[in-house]
Amino acid sequence: MSRYERPNIRAMHGYTWGEQPEDDRTIKLNTNENPYPVSPAVQAALRSIDVATLRTYPQPTADRLRDAIAEHHTVSRNNVIVTNGGDEALRLAMTTFVEPGSSFGMAEPSYSLYPVLAAIHDAGVIEVPLQHDWSMPENFAGRLNESAAQLACVVNPHAPSGSLYDVDTLRRIAFELDGVLLIDEAYADFIDEGNPYDSAPLINEFDNVLILRTFSKGYSLAGLRLGYLLGSDALIDPVLSKTRDSYNIDHISQVLGLAALEDKVYARETWTKVRSERSRLSNDLAQMGLTSPPSQSNFILARIPPDAGVSAEQVYERLKTSGILVRYFAAPRLADRLRITVGTPQQNDALTKALQEILRPHAAPG
Ligand SMILES: *Cc1c(COP(=O)(O)O)cnc(C)c1O
Repeated sequence: MSRYERPNIRAMHGYTWGEQPEDDRTIKLNTNENPYPVSPAVQAALRSIDVATLRTYPQPTADRLRDAIAEHHTVSRNNVIVTNGGDEALRLAMTTFVEPGSSFGMAEPSYSLYPVLAAIHDAGVIEVPLQHDWSMPENFAGRLNESAAQLACVVNPHAPSGSLYDVDTLRRIAFELDGVLLIDEAYADFIDEGNPYDSAPLINEFDNVLILRTFSKGYSLAGLRLGYLLGSDALIDPVLSKTRDSYNIDHISQVLGLAALEDKVYARETWTKVRSERSRLSNDLAQMGLTSPPSQSNFILARIPPDAGVSAEQVYERLKTSGILVRYFAAPRLADRLRITVGTPQQNDALTKALQEILRPHAAPG
């Protein structure tokens, strides 16, 4: 702490990362990475990069990648800005659309980075509690309008529950909200294939809708730091031409992001495997009495039953001792649950086995 810090920075707490162990023996089911490897096409693209190309600045607006993203969502280049991870997109939305001293809105619980970014920006946070089944309260937009929230983030599929809101729910919020609605679709790649969910048309219907996507989860590229926003020309332009860093996407990321998108077939295969493991794991957990809301994401929010004889925090600690990391949040409504990333079949089996051992001694006799 320094007396030179701005008062709001001095008063705030930073974001708490999920643990990132350096060893590769740990079974990492704590930060929602895709458990499958990066596409071989991305590996080949990385090998083909000549360091000589790093002498000059990268293409300033990542246009080839923007075009590929635009095509992927059937929108145009002007509707896309590429960012240094989805997290930069969130920060840019805050910087561009929220006046310091005004307010920012979110559902509670959701992504714990949102209030951190608001605090950095010296904006107030209006938290609207979700219903008991994690659905959106009827008056979500109304509550935020009362406090004149200039930006609201809705994560869909919802984190940490995995629930999916349908497009009509989002459409109603966009219509009612006075400020900008950012739909954070960090996990949208894992939505069931048969589900008709497609929010991209909302950016043409409304001048206040932004959609966030990331390569971190769906494309197994969390280490690359690549994400993007979709929105109307009018919303994207100030972010692209004023508030972002002038060269926010380096040359390597532009090349690798393009290779990842061009190998969609590979990415889709990983999504299919994650979905099938998601249903197998949630069934296995349910057999042990650990219930979870239906997830359209690559994680499961499992509830440790009150009669288990161990708390969720104790289960988290015991799993950690056996080399398995999951996420525990000491927060209202989450303290009796664990957020478990869907892993490979082997990882999920190891988790189930470890859980059986932790819970068995406490099982009711008979
Ligand atoms: C992972 C995630 C993001 C973006 O992550 P990046 O790695 O910065 O792309 C955004 N929102 C939520 C809810 C996430 O879980």
